[in-house]
Amino acid sequence: MSRRRIIAGNWKMNKTPAEAAELVALLKDKVVNDAVDVVYCVPSIDITTVAEAVKGTNVKVGAQNFYIEDKGAFTGEISAPMLKEAGVSYIIIGHSERRDIFGENDILINQKVKKAFASGLNPILCCGESLALRKAGTYCEWIKRQITWDLSGISADDVKKLVIAYEPIWAIGTGETATADQAQEVCHMIRETIAELYDSATAEAVRIQYGGSMNAANAAELLAKEDIDGGLIGGASLKADFAQIVNA
Ligand code: PEP
Repeated sequence: MSRRRIIAGNWKMNKTPAEAAELVALLKDKVVNDAVDVVYCVPSIDITTVAEAVKGTNVKVGAQNFYIEDKGAFTGEISAPMLKEAGVSYIIIGHSERRDIFGENDILINQKVKKAFASGLNPILCCGESLALRKAGTYCEWIKRQITWDLSGISADDVKKLVIAYEPIWAIGTGETATADQAQEVCHMIRETIAELYDSATAEAVRIQYGGSMNAANAAELLAKEDIDGGLIGGASLKADFAQIVNA
């Protein structure tokens, strides 16, 4: 089965609405690859601006966070219906910065995956190991456990639509990229885990990204690997380099 490549930018907490409009304009003529799904995961305050700016292009808008209730007394949060109405179609869930800085655990992450599917948002579910786990050699067990918990109670039909991002924490924002072989090893293991939890058709359908200091220079080698269907890009999504990754 051939899976459609998906390249997503994670802008993190960068770009005011005016700066966001400038970045979309900078990328507009360069990000025109119809063979690839392209997503800009932007700060909530930028969603309306970016949704308007990408109209008529193949770029989809993503968000970086939401809460599992539709509305109510949850100060500071934003809901799935709010994101949907504003034009969001993808949502990053379980990013290591949300897990480590904001204390999100696999129980909440699993609830978020369920809520995203129930609301018609496509989750980009992140997983990955710390440097200590990489050095200890237990990273595969760790990631398998994350995936198993995060997907508990999710149907095979939903998992077929899921995007999983393998993001080794030691490679995020550090300039240190996993080698293409290291990334492939884990992405393959993730696909095997999906086959064990579900079936081979589901494992073949799920799209798996690599994320961690992916850039214009290393993207082609990573994306050439059999089980790597795309990238989740932080730093390099904020500059013209992002277009080179989309076209890699
Ligand atoms: C990320 O935070 O999802 C990420 C991959 O960041 P960077 O590309 O900057 O390592």
